[in-house]
Amino acid sequence: MVNVKKDFVQSMFSVEGKVALVTGATGALGCVLAKAYGYAGAKVFMTGRNDGKLKALEDEFKAEGIDCAYAVADPAKEEDVQKLIDAAVAKYGEINILAVCHGFNKPQNVLEQSVADWQYIMDADCKSVYVVTKYVAHQMVEQGKGGKMVVVTSQRSTRGMANYTGYCTSKGGADLMVSCLACDLSAKYGINVNSICPTVFRSELTEWMFDPESAVYKNFLNREPIGRLAEPEDFVGYALFLSSSASDFITGANCDCSGGYLVV
Ligand code: NDP
Repeated sequence: MVNVKKDFVQSMFSVEGKVALVTGATGALGCVLAKAYGYAGAKVFMTGRNDGKLKALEDEFKAEGIDCAYAVADPAKEEDVQKLIDAAVAKYGEINILAVCHGFNKPQNVLEQSVADWQYIMDADCKSVYVVTKYVAHQMVEQGKGGKMVVVTSQRSTRGMANYTGYCTSKGGADLMVSCLACDLSAKYGINVNSICPTVFRSELTEWMFDPESAVYKNFLNREPIGRLAEPEDFVGYALFLSSSASDFITGANCDCSGGYLVV
């Protein structure tokens, strides 16, 4: 008898009924992943620092029948994150999925960058990942049912770049942190921790790179075997996969979703 369970195969990608906490939900990718979790039947708890944007998202999603709520928090501040988790648990009783989608960059040459500016990027992109995953891990361990964490880093986590001493360093740190978190949390507590490492995708900050006539865009295409830059929706499948039972044997992985950028 071939050993694969029909029920498992037919429901392995489901996140229905799960509670997903999404950070950076006000951003280009965060709002798309938050809505996608909702469309997939999860209860969605969103966070960011911008109350007005979060409220608008809550209104939009609720109008579409998505069960969602939000709390304002700075992901690098321990007190904020503890209150955020309390609010999510007060609303939905538990947290099963964490999607870390916040992030920041301010490109600067190292010779011009202040240590304070560098530290700000490190806090926004690396320390905050530690704080959020740490406190969500405590919550998941207390629940005793395992969980899934998906951290959005960048294809820049393994490549240097001019003016990116803060961004590349913090993203590289976050990717290695994911591997360490998996070592701490997977075997004993059933918590899978993985990152997805996107190439450039469309956002307010990157829109200018998408002009097909520009040298920047043409240069990118020379390095993108897939033949285009990304849209936030391109990462929905990966996020749902890493949040569902389909990825139960995957942990500590830094998952390339760069359209082939790294193979050229
Ligand atoms: P956006 O800039 O659209 O949104 C990111 C969100 O992060 C913002 O809405 C903001 O929410 C929050 N944020 C901004 N600054 C800080 C800060 N200092 N501390 C904490 N939170 C902050 O980002 P994207 O959706 O484009 O990117 C999502 C993730 O993907 C980020 O980690 C980014 O680095 C990464 N990435 C992006 C790529 C791209 O091409 N866009 C390519 C590869 C990786 P609020 O103000 O509400 O707190």
